[in-house]
Amino acid sequence: MAVPAYASKPEHSRGRRYPELPAPTRSPFQRDRDRIVHSSAFRRLVYKTQVFVNHEGDLFRTRLTHSLEVAQIARSIARPLGLNEDLVEAIALAHDLGHTPFGHAGQDALNACMAEHGGFEHNLQSLRVVDDLEQRYPNYDGLNLSFETREGILKHCSRRNAEHLERIEPGGVGWRFLQRSQPSLEAQLCNLADAIAYNAHDIDDGLRSGLMAFEQLRELELFERHCSQALAEHPDLAQPHRLRRLMHEAIRRMLSQQIYDVIDATRANLDRFGPDSADAVRQCPPLVRFSDEMHRHSSGLKRFLFTHLYRHEKVMQTTVQAQQMVRELFQAYLGDPSSMPADHASRSDLPRAVADYIAGMTDRFAAREHERLTGRRLL
Ligand code: MG
Repeated sequence: MAVPAYASKPEHSRGRRYPELPAPTRSPFQRDRDRIVHSSAFRRLVYKTQVFVNHEGDLFRTRLTHSLEVAQIARSIARPLGLNEDLVEAIALAHDLGHTPFGHAGQDALNACMAEHGGFEHNLQSLRVVDDLEQRYPNYDGLNLSFETREGILKHCSRRNAEHLERIEPGGVGWRFLQRSQPSLEAQLCNLADAIAYNAHDIDDGLRSGLMAFEQLRELELFERHCSQALAEHPDLAQPHRLRRLMHEAIRRMLSQQIYDVIDATRANLDRFGPDSADAVRQCPPLVRFSDEMHRHSSGLKRFLFTHLYRHEKVMQTTVQAQQMVRELFQAYLGDPSSMPADHASRSDLPRAVADYIAGMTDRFAAREHERLTGRRLL
């Protein structure tokens, strides 16, 4: 398939912040992907929570497996649409690098700690990781990724943060939030693939944990439809010991339907708006999207998971303790910077240095540090 006009093209990249010679065999987006995979922040994703705290079970998703699932889903949509798969993969693998330990609980606590110092936002933190915090190259901080990969990583940004970014990098990745324009199709796709991935795997993890019951899920129209189709084709899946297979089959069908839906709805949008270049995409409304019907199902899934899993009493209990740990760690390092490694302790912007240090921690390291500094074990 010829590369469509609307796809991002490595040869038209807006380049890196520090110019580099091209690699002999790899495109800039391939190189970005490879740099991300080799980063320390990427390896730490394996011990960071998505919903469950890392030690709760070996089978639950972590940020790493989540990121791999996002990359898989995004690539399977990118290929039939002719989008750049290397860029899609780079963005998907990097999109959660800035997440704190203990998932959203950790991020909320850190944001509260940083309220008077510019706040904390995991999305902007993912960009900070690849722009500043990784230290692997002789001449600059960060991974020096291409503009298009960085643009995709920064999927949300407050006006205040966008203005800040604009001051340090005029016309850079903050610009679109001030202009209210869109990112590349590859970036839009990763955003949607993220939601498709967590909706599906959180159902799986929710059931596995015993916090949600199979019968509850059947209240969901989309799940129920695929569940009864699977049962009609495989009546033996109704046997209690085959229930997990039934769940996997229903989730697989749900995932496929969402993926085909995005491909069809996006194709229709591309026909309708006809962007004639990757840059023209940025001036169109969001083009990668679900059909209206699937959008409704997807929102329903999200609401269902909120009520029955993310706000579940058992999950909330660990949430409260996780937040307390992050708060106490923040206070401890702020009061005694020398209890952090020297490169963090010596920074002039101490609250931000503390936030960067805590944000980089895995769940288990944060718990160990908390115990070391306070003498108490919370989780
Ligand atoms: Mg994600």
